Amino acid sequence: MHCLDCHTHGTTSTAVGVCHGCGAAVCDTHARVTVRSVRRGPMLGGPDEAQARTVRCPKCAVVEAA
Ligand SMILES: [Zn+2]
Ligand SMILES: [Zn+2]
Repeated sequence: MHCLDCHTHGTTSTAVGVCHGCGAAVCDTHARVTVRSVRRGPMLGGPDEAQARTVRCPKCAVVEAA
């Protein structure tokens, strides 16, 4: 699978992820990864705290930030 944004610009790059918003494939350059902490237990900052990642394309990242 190739990056949709690179394809739009006439180049091809191997995709490393898929946009959470629109489903477009994104390469390492175009991927916008946000990390948030997810707590699974009642204790703040407990041992069950995990890092959840969300991948978005540049377009969806702008929409999300607005
Ligand atoms: Zn790209
Ligand atoms: Zn997107």
